[in-house]
Amino acid sequence: MSKIKAEYIWIDGHKPTAKLRSKTKVIDGLVNQLEDIPIWGFDGSSTMQAIGKDSDCMLKPVYFVPDPIRGNDNILVMNEVCSSDGSVHESNTRAHLVKVAETYKDHEPWFGIEQEYTFFVGRSPLGWPEGGYPAPQGPFYCGVGADEVFGRDIVEEHLDACLDAGIALSGINAEVMPGQWEFQIGPVGATDAADQLWLARWLLYRIAEEYGVNATLHPKPVAGDWNGAGAHTNFSTKAMRETGGMKVIEAACEALGKKHEEHIAVYGAHNEERLTGLHETCSIHEFRYGVSDRGASIRIPMAIVNDGHGYLEDRRPAANMDPYQVCAALIETCCA
Ligand code: ADP
Ligand code: MN
Ligand code: MN
Ligand code: MN
Repeated sequence: MSKIKAEYIWIDGHKPTAKLRSKTKVIDGLVNQLEDIPIWGFDGSSTMQAIGKDSDCMLKPVYFVPDPIRGNDNILVMNEVCSSDGSVHESNTRAHLVKVAETYKDHEPWFGIEQEYTFFVGRSPLGWPEGGYPAPQGPFYCGVGADEVFGRDIVEEHLDACLDAGIALSGINAEVMPGQWEFQIGPVGATDAADQLWLARWLLYRIAEEYGVNATLHPKPVAGDWNGAGAHTNFSTKAMRETGGMKVIEAACEALGKKHEEHIAVYGAHNEERLTGLHETCSIHEFRYGVSDRGASIRIPMAIVNDGHGYLEDRRPAANMDPYQVCAALIETCCA
């Protein structure tokens, strides 16, 4: 019987920001459906998910895609972490999103997530002079040319890998700070958007590894007059997308304003370093929404106002946010 390699990917218990982990299982025969992928386990005491004795944690496969790196019939498998008795582990934020998505499925929520990230080599962003600074921000956003753009080979390889894996990547762009990039996922449903974002992050780290480069999701990778890194989360429900949707979008913005602190609590660690009111952000201590306003917490894009329906852009989530928590919070606040 032929054998395939399944890369089991999961989210650890690291605080304040969880990290991705993975290991390989060789499986006999082909995988056609989720049920063909066996439950597996790992040592939770090495991932901040268990204490010494009784350290077995369970990996429950929940989503899989073709492995674009190993090719052939090999697969990448996203897992939920469960305790040894099969109950939901406290680090498992996906289980809650699955419940929320089911409860509000009639609203048909869609998400488009803009993932910003920064390449580093050692202690400097990629392309920055050793121990110094490049020219001030200005020419780098959507730039072209060896003096403005750093890491395009990695970015292109990542784009192809995501598309080969069937991830709903909808675009990429070079960002305002040199060495910083963005990819967008969606619009797709909540659980797909979040699973695919985690897998796309894993592919980014894995591909950059081949180049001796690491990608960081820190929301303020360089202090000072340099843009931070966010994960703008574009959100809509069926009612927002239909004629008259503008009223529903405004009502959602009002509801979000009343839950600002609860949202900030799950929008990523160190986000206060990024949401300063400068660099196209609104201060973390304020909530404002506005049309076309890149200095607001929530932006309603100009095209949406002109159409009278569409979606809103929550600009607050940091690049290192957990999409399971962010998507759940947006659905709970806007659909309840
Ligand atoms: P920006 O102008 O903020 O940089 P981008 O083009 O980077 O915008 O990202 C816009 C995101 O909005 C994309 O990920 C896209 O998939 C998503 N999007 C488009 N329409 C919808 C919708 N109806 N609901 C949710 N997300 C949407
Ligand atoms: Mn964008
Ligand atoms: Mn951006
Ligand atoms: Mn945006």
